[in-house]
Amino acid sequence: MTVTRGRKETSTIKDDHHAGEPPCPPLAEKAFCPFCGQPTAFREWEGMVRRYCGNCDLPLYDNPVPAVCAVATDPRGRILLVQRNVAPCRGEWCLPGGFMELGETPEAAALRELAEETGLRGEVTGLIGLKAAPNRLYHTVLVAGYRVQPLSRQIHPGDDAMAANWFGVGDLPPVAFGSHREFIERVITRENLNRQ
Ligand SMILES: [Zn+2]
Repeated sequence: MTVTRGRKETSTIKDDHHAGEPPCPPLAEKAFCPFCGQPTAFREWEGMVRRYCGNCDLPLYDNPVPAVCAVATDPRGRILLVQRNVAPCRGEWCLPGGFMELGETPEAAALRELAEETGLRGEVTGLIGLKAAPNRLYHTVLVAGYRVQPLSRQIHPGDDAMAANWFGVGDLPPVAFGSHREFIERVITRENLNRQ
C-alpha cells in the first residue's frame, strides 16, 4: 500500500494564490503534542504518515480552519468592501470577514466581523456558498460566504481595515481573495446586480 507522508496535497485548492504570497507553504509541524506537550513522532495511521503522540496515544490530525465573509449591499446594489490593514494582502480590498471564534455560530461570526471592520450592524439573509482556500498559516481554510442585509448605514472602519466603502458592481477594485471574488460574482449573477 502506498503511504503518503503528511497531508494529502490536492489540485483543487489553488485559486487564492496572490503575488508575493506562497500559495500553500508548509504548515508548522506539530513537533510537540498540543494536548500534553510531549514530543511527537511519525506513525502510519489510516493510510497516511501522521504526527502521533505516544503519551496521549493519539494521532494528531490537521484540519481546515473555518472562516467567514459577508456580501452586504446598499439600496443601490453597491457592495461593501474593506481595505485590509493586516497581512496577507495589506492595502488590498476584500469582503468583511475573518475566522470563527470557539463557541460562535458562523452567522454570528460573519456579523461580528462586519461590525468590527465596518461598524455596520446587519442580519444574515442566506448562505452564498462554501470554498476551500489556501492559507499561509493554516494551510487550508473553509470559507463560508454569507449574504448580509445591513441594518445601519454609517461606516466606521475598524482596526483591521484602513477603509471601508461601497462599490458599484462596475467599479469594483481588485479583490484580494479568490473565494471572496467568487462569492461576489455569485451574488451579482443570482441577483442580477447592475454591472454598469
Ligand atoms: Zn500528547
